[in-house]
Formats: sequence, C-alpha cells, structure tokens
Amino acid sequence: MNHGRQRTLGRPARVHGRGLFHGNDVTLTLLPAPEYHGIVFQRVDLASRVLIPARVEYVVAAPRRTVLSRLGAEVETVEHVLAALAGMQVDNCIVQVTASECPNGDGSAQAFVEAIDSAGIVPQSALVTRLDVAESCSVCDESTGACWTARPTADDTLHIDYELLSPFPGCDRQALSLAITPSTFANELAKARTFVRESEVQSLRAVGLGRRTTPSDLIVFDTNGMPIQNALRYSDECVRHKILDCIGDFALGGARLSGNFSGQKTGHRHNHELIRQIRDSQLGQRRRTA
Ligand SMILES: [Zn+2]
Repeated sequence: MNHGRQRTLGRPARVHGRGLFHGNDVTLTLLPAPEYHGIVFQRVDLASRVLIPARVEYVVAAPRRTVLSRLGAEVETVEHVLAALAGMQVDNCIVQVTASECPNGDGSAQAFVEAIDSAGIVPQSALVTRLDVAESCSVCDESTGACWTARPTADDTLHIDYELLSPFPGCDRQALSLAITPSTFANELAKARTFVRESEVQSLRAVGLGRRTTPSDLIVFDTNGMPIQNALRYSDECVRHKILDCIGDFALGGARLSGNFSGQKTGHRHNHELIRQIRDSQLGQRRRTA
C-alpha cells in the first residue's frame, strides 16, 4: 500500500539554542530537499562538511541519547528534531548544525515543530517511500524487562502503545496508546519534555555532561517525584516523551513507518535494534522477490 506524496519544507527555518549534554551554542537550520533525499544531517562547522544520513547504520552507542557518525563527523541528540520531522511527515530535509549537538529547546520537540510550521510543508511529486512491518518481530531484554513488539497493520498507520514502568516516583507507571499522525504528534506529544532524576543529574555532571543545563531545560524530578523549579505540562508527560523519542529513533529506518508497536521500559538502544530488524527484514524480502 502506498498513499500520499513525499513532503519537504517550503523554505529554510532555524532553531538557535544549546546542547543538553555538552552545553554548546548551536544553530540548527532545516532546509528543503529534493525527492528521495531523506533526512540528512550536515556539520557546517567542519571543513569537510560531511553529510550524515539519518539512518540506523550510522548510529554509534551513547548513553541517554541518539548519536550519528560518518567519516569522523558526529551529530548528537538527534532524536527530538527527527521526531518532529517524522511526526509532521516531512520526508526530505537537510539538517545543518553549527556544532556537534542539536539544540535542546525546552527539552521537547516543540521548537522544531514551530520551525517546520513557520517554513510550511509542501508536497512533492514522488510517492512516499514506506517501511511497513511485514512480519511480527520483537526486541526484548530479559535482565531489565525492556521489550518491543512490532506487528503488521492492515492499513498504513503507525500505532504506538507504550507502558513506562520506572522505579522512581513521578514516572513510575504511565501508559499511553496513540495513532501517530501530524495532528496527534503536534497536539499530544511535541511539547512533552525530557526527564531525569535529581541523582542522575549529579552523576552526569560528575562526568562533565550537562554543566550548563538548568531545571528549566528539562524536567528534573526530586526524590518525592516532584518537578524541581518546574511544572508538568501533562500528568503523564514522561510516557508522552518516551513515545516522542521512539518516533525520532524509528525515523532512522529512513522511510515512513507503519505498524502496531507495543513497548515497555525501552531505551534508545532497543529502539535502534528494533528499527534495524524491521529495515533488514524489508531489505531481505526485496532480495527474495527480486
Ligand atoms: Zn528525548
């Protein structure tokens, strides 16, 4: 099944800010791109101007965020801008950054959605490139209870069912089931912010990360599960942000995704593994039918 045309931006749009982990000042520019280009990052502060396609084969392991690397150039914390592009169904875009880490905004994807809205989305001529879950698959980690299951869907929708089971107050048990469309993404997910425990902030700072980060850059929960110097936007903001992160990581499949996804307790590494499996399964099927 293949409905719809590929989409890009009407004109360039910028987001200025600071990286969450490294605190670098950075400008991110979203640029229109031709059909079949996909989402591609470019470090414009490096002489080599290496292009880094937003694809799972360029993922390198990093805690708590998604990092892409190609030919010695890295771009970090790509998941929120990718979530905004995938959530708003922008298929083709060049994402230029002036430093190694994407801007954090307020810890959500809202700044990127506003940039996309200000640029406008325009349809192109070519049909959408799709990545459909063709056969059920799963990625589970028995030691932590983290598990993803993906099943085929009868139509071309992306449905995510997520249960956050966390040992700390504030985010201990939240569940949400949502069909992902540009409208549900913008209205239900885009404003949900990154969250950490106060004790995690201290351990991240001890290794030099997040030194310019303040409690207004994300949600920091105290030991009683209360946000420090901040207020929640939704009572279940944590599970909304987890789904936002999944959408960003799943965009690394490099095509418009459909399927029924059910997850719990997962992190970026599980998201990457699942989308790699789905992408490899599609490539395998193409080879068998070629
Ligand atoms: Zn996130």
